[in-house]
Amino acid sequence: MTEKFDAIVVGAGMAGNAAALTMAKRGLKVLQLERGEYAGSKNVQGAILYAAQVEKLIPEFREDAPLERHLVEQRFWMMDDASHTGLHYRSEEFNEERPNRYTIIRSQFDRWFSKHVQQAGAIVLTETTAVELLQDPRGRVIGVRTDRAQGDVLADVVILAEGVNGLLGTRAGLRERPTRENVALAVKEMHFLPRETIEARFNLKGDEGAVIEAAGTISRGMAGMGFIYTNRESISIGIGCIVSDLAKTGHSPYELLEAFKRHPSVAPLIEGSEVKEYAAHLIPEGGYKAVPKLCGDGWLVAGDAAQLNNAIHREGSNLALASGQMAGETVAELKGRGLEPTARNLALYRTRMMDSFVMQDLKKYKDMPALLHASAQNFFLTYPQLVSKAMQNFVRVDGTPKIEKERRTMKSFFAARSIGGLVGDAVRMARAWR
Ligand code: FAD
Repeated sequence: MTEKFDAIVVGAGMAGNAAALTMAKRGLKVLQLERGEYAGSKNVQGAILYAAQVEKLIPEFREDAPLERHLVEQRFWMMDDASHTGLHYRSEEFNEERPNRYTIIRSQFDRWFSKHVQQAGAIVLTETTAVELLQDPRGRVIGVRTDRAQGDVLADVVILAEGVNGLLGTRAGLRERPTRENVALAVKEMHFLPRETIEARFNLKGDEGAVIEAAGTISRGMAGMGFIYTNRESISIGIGCIVSDLAKTGHSPYELLEAFKRHPSVAPLIEGSEVKEYAAHLIPEGGYKAVPKLCGDGWLVAGDAAQLNNAIHREGSNLALASGQMAGETVAELKGRGLEPTARNLALYRTRMMDSFVMQDLKKYKDMPALLHASAQNFFLTYPQLVSKAMQNFVRVDGTPKIEKERRTMKSFFAARSIGGLVGDAVRMARAWR
């Protein structure tokens, strides 16, 4: 006879682990399926971890979680080919007892997380791919077919936490495949260096960490960002651009990463390092308007599979954790009240999501992905070049009267964008930021 569970969770990333842990802690009979060799073996992230969300699931996580560095400094760089103009925030207050953000290595973190899921009582099957959703004649999801022999498993409810490109939900017609305009392809390398070298280059002591988020000519006029994150003994460096732009321009992410690494502001930071890992992964960047239906008869979707990513603030893992937790809580609550996981009852998940920071933040920036994509040439190429020239003009001392320097700077902006263009860009950006 086919075994039946209260819930099946597909995927052991941030969303899946949060959902499985939440339900197992509440005493539900949970099966979690992960196609990778172990939880985290397939997962790619920069990676900044936002502590507040982890704390809600495992309050004492700092005691034994594999954390790299707590972040005391954030730099934003606007780059042209020879320079960067930076906004730099560092605070001693981030050296707090319970730091707010850490760098992590996902393969280690997810494995640790999965141990907690198993200790809470969930059954975790790795190297097991869910290949199809099982539905009853009325379309209600009643389980999954796996790639194991006699691999059908039944459950009252299935939580889809299968990541950005998860095929289960799309194959079953529960959601559309994300479009090429709504996903970025990011590549990332891990550069190993002695920890003292990293600390000297980034002005860090002990377990302090720093991160750099970079935009500008490095993305060749496409909507995209680069990043440099410090770990204990390695530096994660990567870049991502919208897939449809990569297809249109013919640029490859690998070529962009090589150029980013050669940039005069970047090269000295990674000089002499040994590259041990290379990874490529999609990031859902369509924002609020790309979020699919969140639940239906017998199913819910969480994390990247629900396209939950705040590209402006570079947050994804916390949205995955929060949505996974809310999905798990909803299922546990219905079970506790003896209610069937019908579309109508599971709509409680959607309500919770809409009331939470997850959907509120995405809603706030709902017009930003389209604006950045449509005006990528201006925001990622023209303005960074203009700003760099303006900064150089400002700081270079060469006997030119300051009034003349200001005139030249204004002229270069008007020549590149015209008054109407500048005002239009400012208004559109202000509206999208609201
Ligand atoms: P995933 O972590 O992708 O997990 C999905 C899991 O499902 C995987 O383990 C996969 O193997 C499994 N799976 C898929 N299909 C099946 C199947 N059919 N059967 C069984 N198992 C299956 N976010 C941040 O918060 N901070 C950052 O610094 C950051 N940096 C990033 C940098 C890069 C380069 C990338 C690509 C992403 C970054 N993100 C960052 C985003 C973040 O990684 C994601 O938002 C987060 O991993 C989403 O978690 P998830 O559980 O939804 O999906």
